[in-house]
Amino acid sequence: MSETGLADSFRRLIAQHGPLPVSRYMGESNARYYTTRDPLGAAGDFTTAPEISQMFGEMAGLWLADIWARAGRPAGAIYVELGPGRGTLAKDALRAMASQGLRPEVHLVEGSEVLRRIQGGVLSGARFHDTLDTLPDDRPILLLANEFLDALPVRQLVMTEKGWRERMVGLDDNGAFAFVAGPSPMDQAVPEAQRAATPGTVIETCPAAATLIEALARRLDVQGGAALFIDYGHLAPRSGSTLQAVRAQEKVDVFAAPGEMDLTAHVDFATLDAIARREGVASSLTTQGAWLTAMGIGLRAQALAKATPDRADELAQAYDRLVQPGEMGELFKAMALSARDWPRGAGFPEGERRRSEK
Ligand code: SAH
Repeated sequence: MSETGLADSFRRLIAQHGPLPVSRYMGESNARYYTTRDPLGAAGDFTTAPEISQMFGEMAGLWLADIWARAGRPAGAIYVELGPGRGTLAKDALRAMASQGLRPEVHLVEGSEVLRRIQGGVLSGARFHDTLDTLPDDRPILLLANEFLDALPVRQLVMTEKGWRERMVGLDDNGAFAFVAGPSPMDQAVPEAQRAATPGTVIETCPAAATLIEALARRLDVQGGAALFIDYGHLAPRSGSTLQAVRAQEKVDVFAAPGEMDLTAHVDFATLDAIARREGVASSLTTQGAWLTAMGIGLRAQALAKATPDRADELAQAYDRLVQPGEMGELFKAMALSARDWPRGAGFPEGERRRSEK
């Protein structure tokens, strides 16, 4: 099948079997999208924080190294990254970790063959995994994931005149993709407090993210370690569809070109935080800007500008993009997880509260 064949195969599938759940549309689109290209390259579709500046990965690496040092520098801790893109975050984070005496084995969870090849070229000796399931289970985990959770498929429910239904992708009279309500009642799937709603209300959940955080929390509890997730998302629960598509740095219609554009949804950090806590893992939330500022990115930017004066403007711009509220600083959120007997990560509200309580 050609690269552009996904829209056609979705159309055939819908014509034969009826509408597809939004989760399937998003999951299959992104699987195709990521396995056929490097979306972050020079002519890429979007730019992520580690691709903006080395400072981002350095702060993430120092954050993990600090936790590891305060945990007593346990031997054998492994570095795990979910969806490492071009390997840039790992490269910068591992260099910062090495400066602190931490040289972990590298384990990458990556679904795309194209990106695995790029990552393998940047990170020699890295081991690859399809999911968390095959990671070593006998050593502490030091994990980073940037813009990974937002690529996982969301499930949507929509309120209709006849109650709650799964939100699906069907075809309109002209053969164009359109959102439709599924045939079966889904009221049972909606928490009671949210059931009364006006028709058209959409509720979004991300079962894959929930499952992943639960599995990781269980591992942290047994193996020890810490994790940092950074993503576009919200800290308090809310309703409404957040599904969006990006192509060539522009927002496009979510039906424009399945498999040829990046589909994302906001990460519901409140729910993931609750899941981690339920598994006995410490969890804390903040914004990317607040976390980077607390980590000392300002000083790092100054030091780099002093060492390379010709890059001063570029560094100032990168700093602004990563930290300022109108840029990524507030839109992007950070979630820190620590095993219960491990130290809390720096720069998060709960960690600081704990320290001052002592
Ligand atoms: N973290 C990188 C790249 C973000 S793009 C950065 O910040 O630059 C999303 C990454 O997650 C890509 O590497 C993509 O291939 C990977 N990915 C997306 N869905 C995945 C899945 N279900 N399983 C494994 N990897 C996935």
